[in-house]
Amino acid sequence: MRRRGVTVMVTLASLASLGLNGTRSFSAFGRKRPHIKAEAAGAKRSLSAIRDRLRKEDGTSFVDTHCHLDLVLPRLSEQSHKDAAKAVAKGEEPLPRLRADFLEWRETLQGSERDLEGCVNIGCSARGIDAAVEFLKHDNVYGAFGIHPLNAHEWNSEMEDKIVKLMSRDKVVAWGECGLDYYDKKTRAQKQEQHTRELQRKVFVRQIDLAVSLGKPLVVHTRCAEEDTLELLEAHLPESHPVHVHCFTSSQKLASALLEGFSGLRLGFTGVVTFKNAQEVQEVVKSTPLQRILLETDSPYMAPEPFRGRIAHPGHVSYVADAVACLKGITREEVLAQCRQNTRSTYGI
Ligand SMILES: [Zn+2]
Repeated sequence: MRRRGVTVMVTLASLASLGLNGTRSFSAFGRKRPHIKAEAAGAKRSLSAIRDRLRKEDGTSFVDTHCHLDLVLPRLSEQSHKDAAKAVAKGEEPLPRLRADFLEWRETLQGSERDLEGCVNIGCSARGIDAAVEFLKHDNVYGAFGIHPLNAHEWNSEMEDKIVKLMSRDKVVAWGECGLDYYDKKTRAQKQEQHTRELQRKVFVRQIDLAVSLGKPLVVHTRCAEEDTLELLEAHLPESHPVHVHCFTSSQKLASALLEGFSGLRLGFTGVVTFKNAQEVQEVVKSTPLQRILLETDSPYMAPEPFRGRIAHPGHVSYVADAVACLKGITREEVLAQCRQNTRSTYGI
């Protein structure tokens, strides 16, 4: 297998809940609708269901190919409570307070966010895996399971057996996210502890091998571990295996190496591509063929503009698509149609 000396960096920074006004996001929240308007609301809902179906046939629907619903929903709930309290303090009209409930959240989606067709929900810790299994009961919520590098200490033979069993379940579409994360929060640089790296490498290699042997697409997380990530992928991954290198924020050099080296690999882009200070990743978007791009949020992290600093959710893929279209000088519809096709190709959904 080839080796190239390039770098990978994927940021997984949690952004605090601050800033923009939440009124718009929550204005359709059903729970607060007066009961006398229930009938009209029902009619409105069925009209919006028809509109949603028509949109799907238009090819403008989208799938969030990477999210963490178990983290998104409680944080959205918390954010809505804070927004409501602020509004009360200012003497403004009361705002709805969300519960951490999937179906209620779906009702709050507005405008183009409503074109959300489904999502690949990630479970990548002992706790997160159990939570993600629960979400599989919802229509169009698919699952990917693995052990995140920051949870590498949770890997053992029982965990391996558990994830292997999950791979044969209906709606479980991939192995991951897994990978390497050498980022040290304290020094904001690469961690130097050898034992941490060794453990992460071992757990990553085992998961690559399992995904390959089970024929499951691989979801890769990599941060401050560029050369090691590439080395391990090149040593263990067949050239055409389906891979999603998620939340890509690294260099053009790496993007080229990955895309040339692995024909089944796609790069996932998040709300980061809408950030003003993200020129490097925007250049990568421009040069990456549309056929090799997956749209994702990595929510609750990386909320796109104009929601930066708020809690991201899968409906925000709409804004990522707009940014990709703008960067490539093509239409939003072209981006959505091709990326929907890419999702089918990588994940079979
Ligand atoms: Zn993730």
